[in-house]
Amino acid sequence: MGTKKLYRNMRLFTPVDGGRPLAGKEQANVKEIKKAAMLVAGGIIEKIGEEDEILKNVCPCEVALEKDFGGACVVPGFVDPHTHMCFAKRREDEFGMRLAGLPYLEILARGGGILSSVNAVKAATEDQLFETTKKLALSALAKGTTTVEIKSGYGLELGLELKMLEVIGRVGRETPLDVVPTFMGAHAVPQEYKGRADEFVDEVLVKQMLPKVKEQGIAEFCDVFCEEGVFSVEQSRRLLKAAKEMGFDTKIHADEVNDLGGAGLAAELATRSAEHLLAASEENLRAMGKAGSIAVLLPATAYSLKKPYARGRDMVDWGVPVAMATDCNPGSCFCESMPFIFGLGVMCMDLSVEEALTATTLNAAYALNRAKKLGSLEAGKQADFLVLDGETPTALAYHAGATSIEEVYKLGERVA
Ligand SMILES: [Zn+2]
Repeated sequence: MGTKKLYRNMRLFTPVDGGRPLAGKEQANVKEIKKAAMLVAGGIIEKIGEEDEILKNVCPCEVALEKDFGGACVVPGFVDPHTHMCFAKRREDEFGMRLAGLPYLEILARGGGILSSVNAVKAATEDQLFETTKKLALSALAKGTTTVEIKSGYGLELGLELKMLEVIGRVGRETPLDVVPTFMGAHAVPQEYKGRADEFVDEVLVKQMLPKVKEQGIAEFCDVFCEEGVFSVEQSRRLLKAAKEMGFDTKIHADEVNDLGGAGLAAELATRSAEHLLAASEENLRAMGKAGSIAVLLPATAYSLKKPYARGRDMVDWGVPVAMATDCNPGSCFCESMPFIFGLGVMCMDLSVEEALTATTLNAAYALNRAKKLGSLEAGKQADFLVLDGETPTALAYHAGATSIEEVYKLGERVA
């Protein structure tokens, strides 16, 4: 009885997991096997390596050939560790205003910005919100994303935040994707707490929302938008410390526009990751590297806002483990395509192809605390992988505007 699935004749490229995020020179630690085979049982890789070796050591009686890839290039499924793809309404009109040169405050005055997404989430039924989120998640899957993080944060009040987290959980249950839910009630200061952000943090987020979210067990991470005019470093510290004490894993939107010291806070609290980091100082970034906090870079946001890119090259050289994500959201970055992110990483942040592959797979899995199961193609991990149109992962940057994704496998099953 062939109970194990055999996949053969693959040109395999995978980062090599050494038990921690890959940083510095190790970020390029990608192994190539020109003719690889993989044995999969119950969706988990049992053996992977040189085809000759694998075939020599396995009895034909216990395996069934699932697929011969004819020498095609195979890489791990992408892990997208930062999205806000749970939203009810697109903001295309607002993008148009931005292109026409309208300042953000004017856009806000015309009803745009995060608060317009809050109103849309309020107006949508749970089913409607689920349908729009599922559609985006499946689009990401077709482009090679096999695991995605999705944040709440367009609710800003308990009931709506829980509604978003419910929907996010449902996307995980009703699509092939692994979904990691993040509570981000600290995405903006709600209108009614204008000028009273301290009170919103201490009385609402810490005392009311975090305990409820914890009690329902519907979020793993707690995230905060630490930025001028949103939440200060001190407010972010209080929130993240409280979240850690309640057992949440932590992330922080840090130093996107101004160097407030969010990256320094990430190092101080050893948050799992810090995101954006366009304005972060070298000192604080190096401190993040020492603390093992992962820099999650979001190049499509810089693209979409016509801003300079984060210093990805420097960060790798400074020993900070770098991951990349889409930041998919209706305002600053409507993009769910990891191949596009891959291309921007290579072309606009000067990462090598190997570093970009690690950034979009293994380090991204570490940023979601999923590296034990995901992020590289090695024994004991899930058989989540992509077949590329191209000889090597270079195709992902080389073939501009294409995704180069031919086939997508989750737990050994073809899903796109
Ligand atoms: Zn974000």
